[in-house]
Amino acid sequence: MAQIIDGKAISQAVKDEIKARTAELSAKGISACLAVILVGEDPASQVYVKNKKKACEYCGIKSLSYELPADTTEEKLLELIEELNAREDVNGILVQLPLPAGIDEDRVLDAISPDKDVDGFHPVNVGKLSIGKKGFVSCTPAGVIQLLKRSGIEISGKECVVVGRSNIVGKPMSMLLLKENGTVTVCHSRTKNLKEVTKRADILVVAIGKPKFIDASYVREGAVVIDVGIHRQEDGKLCGDVDYASVEPIASAITPVPGGVGPMTIAMLMYNLLASVDA
Ligand code: NAP
Repeated sequence: MAQIIDGKAISQAVKDEIKARTAELSAKGISACLAVILVGEDPASQVYVKNKKKACEYCGIKSLSYELPADTTEEKLLELIEELNAREDVNGILVQLPLPAGIDEDRVLDAISPDKDVDGFHPVNVGKLSIGKKGFVSCTPAGVIQLLKRSGIEISGKECVVVGRSNIVGKPMSMLLLKENGTVTVCHSRTKNLKEVTKRADILVVAIGKPKFIDASYVREGAVVIDVGIHRQEDGKLCGDVDYASVEPIASAITPVPGGVGPMTIAMLMYNLLASVDA
């Protein structure tokens, strides 16, 4: 039986720590404020934004909401970002992705001041992570590190295999595991003999975007398995990139979906926001 890594409980603990710290700062007259920009009416994005605002409220962080119509031009969006960059009362700016077709996502994300880039997507913050300097770190991989640490799982010296090399998950994940002194291998769609590589892992992080792709045949007995994937199945239930039923019996620890990595992403967003005011 694997240890089930409880992302719900761990994310709650992180949010409670943030709440306590924002209360201390507030008593000194220091407040934290996140500006959230949503363009268009994508239902999933609307839910994510609502949850982010709810988490802000819980943590004692002010949130400003900008809900713009789908036909908003790139120039208008860039103007709003410029305005928020200049506002001293705004500590963090988040543009909910994906943006409607016709808006250049890279141009928009690059326009956010690196000092307010609480998603950690700006090239300056990505560069800082790669050379080990302090900066904002992409929330999902930062959440994975917290899950491991707070579950008492040692990373230093371990064989860590990351499946996926996206800019928001796989790449920053590999840099963070390296920072924690793991021995890191990154796999992707061109990796040969994937199973041979994943079976070397003491810690296997899966961010591949394919439901239940990783079954027990990819996992060494006793490995720690972190499932970043999230998919809605035909029956309405959620599943990950890992075939939980097959892997759980042989893993030493595993994250469930839902209730694993997912809840950590918003908690780490709150963490990043607090870090921007609590230097
Ligand atoms: P992505 O941008 O689609 O990247 C998927 C990665 O998997 C790519 O690097 C791709 O390789 C690799 N890949 C695809 N097929 C493969 C195969 N057969 N063998 C080996 N590697 C393969 O996805 P993402 O944005 O990183 O997200 C990954 C998953 O995490 C998704 O399910 C997403 O919904 C979920 N997610 C969850 C959260 C959360 O808060 N829990 C946050 C973000 C993402 P190439 O680079 O060669 O194409």
